[in-house]
Parts: sequence; structure tokens; C-alpha cells
Amino acid sequence: MMIVPSLLSLLLLADGASAFSSSLPPSSSTALSLSQRSSASSLLRASSVLDDITTQNSSPGNGDDDGDDDDKDWWHRLQVLSDGFQEQSGRILFHEKELIHHDEDLAMALKQEHHVDFTVPSNWHDAMAQFTRQPQTQVLLGATLVSMIVRLVVWPWVGVSDVAAVFLTPLAYQLQEYGYHRRNYHGNDRGKSYFPFAYHDQHHSLPYYHMAMEPVHVCASFVASVTAMGLVVGILSQADSTTCSTIATVHASFLVCSLHYLAVHYLAHSKVPLTGRLQRAREHHIQHHLDHDVNLNMAGQALDELFHTTSQPAKQRGGVSV
Ligand SMILES: [Zn+2]
Ligand SMILES: [Zn+2]
Repeated sequence: MMIVPSLLSLLLLADGASAFSSSLPPSSSTALSLSQRSSASSLLRASSVLDDITTQNSSPGNGDDDGDDDDKDWWHRLQVLSDGFQEQSGRILFHEKELIHHDEDLAMALKQEHHVDFTVPSNWHDAMAQFTRQPQTQVLLGATLVSMIVRLVVWPWVGVSDVAAVFLTPLAYQLQEYGYHRRNYHGNDRGKSYFPFAYHDQHHSLPYYHMAMEPVHVCASFVASVTAMGLVVGILSQADSTTCSTIATVHASFLVCSLHYLAVHYLAHSKVPLTGRLQRAREHHIQHHLDHDVNLNMAGQALDELFHTTSQPAKQRGGVSV
């Protein structure tokens, strides 16, 4: 039962297990050393420009001194700072301390008012603990377990169509993930998101190392949408028992894929030393944060190759080599 979902989970755990047992020094991790490789001169230039930017942002009418700033002001202030920093330095913000250095009030507001968590784990034990206590994880994990149990209890058999479903569903998931990211998150003419997906712009503006997950209401909406689609297809097609079991298999597989995406993206933004496929996913994703037009697939990179949105791995990007 659930061969592919199980394999996906095992694959992630297998990567995790190898990384868990490794004790890579920070200098051996590509992601961890990226900010250190930035040129000092470009940072100095960025620093002076950012001093101007943050001074402007802190002026009356925009700032927090009057206590009248709303959510949009803080996020707008972050976006201006982040865009200005990348324009001047050729790289993204990586660490909370860089944000604090340029705008301490903003860093405090993001943490206290918007609950942004910059305490990313650097080992697997802490990562598992932080990941599993997030409501997003609990929503997706709970829904996945319920889906699997319903599938196995109501239709306690496996047919050829179920086997086909567990192999094909990950492909369908990758397609929707790619399309969703490209169209909804970066689809407008400035490479930004459409309403109501501004949370992804905020994700890109934050220093790279933060607790990165889709908001919980997005995860819940995803579960509801997948479930509704399964019910609609089953009802409209007047599905027989075999077809219903296949639809249930697709449903469970789709949720496993979404959980896999959530975990890989979360790990990519952590400081946990990774190896193999997970490390490649992290490097692939860092390039996406450098250039929003490339590397739109998270867990797999084949669709970026197919749609010509992959970046050149060895390409120098403003002093940062990945
Ligand atoms: Zn990301
Ligand atoms: Zn993106």
C-alpha cells in the first residue's frame, strides 16, 4: 500500500539519516559559507546605501515612532531594504544579524508582531523538533494519516490502478507545484506574487535563514481543495468501488507529496548540514532566492530543465558562487 508515498518518506529520511550521522564543519557546507564568500567591498557599498534607505524608511509617516504603522508598512520596509541590499551587493540577506545591523526596529517588529522565527536549527534533532511542532506540519501530517487510514480501511485491497496512481501522482504534484510557484508567486510583471499570495514575497524578502513554511491557512486550504476535487471527480463520474479506491490513493499520495515539499523547503532554509539530494535541493533553491525567474521547482529539478528555467550551477551571481 502507498508504495510511492512510503518511498518518498523513506527517501527523505534516508537523506536525513546520512546527514544526521555526518558532522560536516560549517566550511564544508555550500549554503553555510555563501555569505562568507561575498565580497567585503560590495557589502560596504550596500551598507552605505542601506543606511540611506533605512533612514528614509524611519522618517515620520513611514516609521514606527508614531505607532501607526500597520502590517504593510513593516513588510514594505523589509522589501525596500532587501531589494536595495541585493541591488547593491549582488546577493541576498542571509542572516538575522544582517537585518538587525541595517534596521533593528524592523527585525524586532517582524519577530514580535509577525512572529517571524529566525532561530533555524543547525542539527537534525532540533530540526525535527521545530518542524513537527509547526501547525502547518500538523495539519498536513494529520490529513495525510487520515487519508491513508480511510483508504486502507474502506478499500482494503491494491489494484493495478492504485500502483499506477502512486507512480503518477508525484509527477502531477511536481507540475502543479511548478505552475503554482511560477504563476501565482512570481507571475506579475515585476516577478512578484498576485493577490493573495504576498506571503511569498515576504518569504523572499526575509533573510534566507528563517523558519520557512507556507502559512497554516494555505496548508489547510490545500487539503480542502484536494479533498474537494477528489469528491467532485468521484461523484461526477459516478465512480465504482475500484475507481473510488484509486481516487483515494491519489488523494493520499498528493498529500504525502505536499508534506515532502514542506519538509524539503523547511530544511533548505535551515542550517542543518545536508548531503545528497537534499543538499542539491538547497543549492537549487538558493539560486531561486537570488533570481526569482529560475529554479522554481523545490524537491525536483527536472521541470526547470524542461521549461528552461534552470540556472547555470557554476554561474557567478554578484560575488556569490553556488
Ligand atoms: Zn524559499
Ligand atoms: Zn519563489
